[in-house]
Amino acid sequence: MDCVPEIKVLRERCVRCGDCIVLCPQSGDRVSYPVFISTGDTGEIKVENQESCFGCMTCVEFCRASAVIVSGAPSPTGQQEVFSARRVIRII
Ligand code: SF4
Ligand code: SF4
Repeated sequence: MDCVPEIKVLRERCVRCGDCIVLCPQSGDRVSYPVFISTGDTGEIKVENQESCFGCMTCVEFCRASAVIVSGAPSPTGQQEVFSARRVIRII
């Protein structure tokens, strides 16, 4: 990947459900360099290893609190786009 996406979790919105860790294909115990990490006893979500992200946008689509912003990820057209936190219908 030519660029590293910038990923932000809006602390004021995040309800610390952990869905981003479960749903992101590049997070959780199954990967060596996870993007999303739950910190300590508080469960606050921290973003690390942004270079692991490949821009699938699952985190943006399914965050129940619209708390995730991904920018600079590659799009199907090869151009960088900004995917702001947005509200979608939750299907899972
Ligand atoms: S899915 Fe959204 S609300 Fe849930 S922990 Fe992740 S950022 Fe926070
Ligand atoms: S865009 Fe996809 S790979 Fe990147 S952090 Fe979000 S869910 Fe993970």
